[in-house]
Amino acid sequence: MGQAIYGFVGLGNMGRPMALNILRAGHDLVVHDPNDDAVAELVRAGARHASSVAELGAEADAVFLSLPTPEVVRQVCLGDGGLSAAKRTRIIVDLSTTGSETEAQVAAGLAAKGKILVDCPVSGGVSGAEAGRLALMAAGEAEAVEALRPVLELLGKLFVVGTEPGMGQSMKVINNLMSTTALTISSEALVLGVKCGLDPDRMIEVLNAGSGRNSATERKIPDNVLPRSFDFGFAIGLSAKDARLCIEEAERRGVDMKVGRAVQQVLNATRDTLGADADLTTVIKLVEAQAGVEVRGAAAGEGK
Ligand code: NAD
Repeated sequence: MGQAIYGFVGLGNMGRPMALNILRAGHDLVVHDPNDDAVAELVRAGARHASSVAELGAEADAVFLSLPTPEVVRQVCLGDGGLSAAKRTRIIVDLSTTGSETEAQVAAGLAAKGKILVDCPVSGGVSGAEAGRLALMAAGEAEAVEALRPVLELLGKLFVVGTEPGMGQSMKVINNLMSTTALTISSEALVLGVKCGLDPDRMIEVLNAGSGRNSATERKIPDNVLPRSFDFGFAIGLSAKDARLCIEEAERRGVDMKVGRAVQQVLNATRDTLGADADLTTVIKLVEAQAGVEVRGAAAGEGK
């Protein structure tokens, strides 16, 4: 796609930096999001604003989605004024975590209208999105994936995991359940360590030099928990949604994920206690409240 016009729908924590990376590479980008502030930032950076999905679909050849839930992806693709009826758009790339079942249904609905869905969820968080260092898990028609490869590679490392939309989603929800399992057990472990009189900064140094090392001990706990900033940038409500999608996938496939279900319960309890918008890294707060201690690193200072 030489002089293609790209569209981007959903300019939240992940969509904003991904759209900026496409724009900064010199591409013509049309954006849409009901949040005016998110749109304004992209427009300042050179994007054009479409006030509806239909308007965007009349301008863009290929459209990227970074939307919160399966329901919103379905609505934007197949609902009234959705991309299935787009005048110009032919390829839709879903970068959201939507789950394999919805993704396959949306792909079929779009195919019935002559559109191609590339399933392409991402991993790496907001920092990975900002740095253009995400892991992208693509599944869809090979020709469409290859046509979009140069743009997708602006966002990170592209892994083609299948040709059927939904397979990228399966890969993604498995990745996320592993990631939240690491965060949950690491949070419990840090609380136990503090109860044992251990220094949490020192614990992280030891864990990262030893076999307890994982994505939470390497990044989320030192960056977002020990300083008490809780600003990883992923809402607990969306994380609980991802865990639900993985457990549902496991149930459909006849896999009994006992540990996965326990992690899902922790995420759900955090969402129900602290609210869906709380940061994923606040899972530790429920463990702390039960144990009666706080895991504070030197970076948090003395204050509360
Ligand atoms: P977010 O809630 O920050 O952003 C979602 C954006 O979609 C918002 O700007 C919202 O206004 C917009 N939106 C909602 N309904 C819309 C509609 N009907 N039309 C157009 N725009 C609409 O969410 P996020 O954290 O950026 O996550 C986006 C997706 O990426 C989710 O599926 C999430 O599971 C996945 N994801 C998130 C992370 C992360 O670390 N935050 C990492 C990987 C994947």
